[in-house]
Parts: sequence; structure tokens; C-alpha cells
Amino acid sequence: MTIHRCKICGYIYKDGAAPAECPICQNQNCFEEIAPDKVDYEFFKEAWTRQVKWMNATKYQNEIMLNPDEEVLKQLAEAEKTFLLDGKQAYCPCRILTGNELADRKIICPCYFYMGEVELEGHCHCSLYVTPKWVEKK
Ligand SMILES: [Zn+2]
Repeated sequence: MTIHRCKICGYIYKDGAAPAECPICQNQNCFEEIAPDKVDYEFFKEAWTRQVKWMNATKYQNEIMLNPDEEVLKQLAEAEKTFLLDGKQAYCPCRILTGNELADRKIICPCYFYMGEVELEGHCHCSLYVTPKWVEKK
């Protein structure tokens, strides 16, 4: 099992080999291999930052940002790290796993649902990805 992170959108995936195509940004051969001892807060923050950058460059116009509360980010990174180093994927810590690996792919962070939630609520379920408007109102 090797940990891979997309150089474009930050998607993290663990498998014997990197997927040929990134399931999020659909670029080809865009994964870098990461050693398990390099999986720390900075590793996740870099992944999330890439996701925000990619999302704002493709689907949105600077409408998405990371939660500015570093404590929230640290807690989420810690929870995802536990999943990832425990033989699983970097699952969203705020959702319930079904135990079915294929079904649970939808909740690898950034989960399948986050864009809709950000649009509707101003933040995803865990408040990892938020809108500047939501931050202002808080
Ligand atoms: Zn990608």
C-alpha cells in the first residue's frame, strides 16, 4: 500500500499503484508518492490548499476557502491521518463509513457531497471548506 497525492487537486489515495486518472480533477499521471512518515498536518494542509486552488480556478471564482480557524484544520488532519495510517483511506471524519470500500470512496476527503454543501450552507459538513461570506458572518 502506498499513499499518493494529486499534484493538481490534492486528492489523496492509497493503493498499490496510483490511479491513472485522478477521480476528482481528471488529470492523467498527476500523482506523487508520499511516504507514511511524511503524513502530517502540513501534508493535509497542502492537499486541501491544492483542492481550493483547483476548485477556484475551474468551477468557482474564489468562492471557496479553507476554514481560517487553524484548530479546526488541525483536528480534521489528525482524524484523517488516523484513517489513512490505519490501513484505510483519508476519509471525511464527519461521515459514517458503510464498510463497503466502493461506496465509501465517495467520502474520501474531499467528499462527493462537499460542493453542494458549500453552495447551500456556506460550508461543508466538517467546515473544512467554507465560503468567505460564511466566515464573515461568523
Ligand atoms: Zn486531481
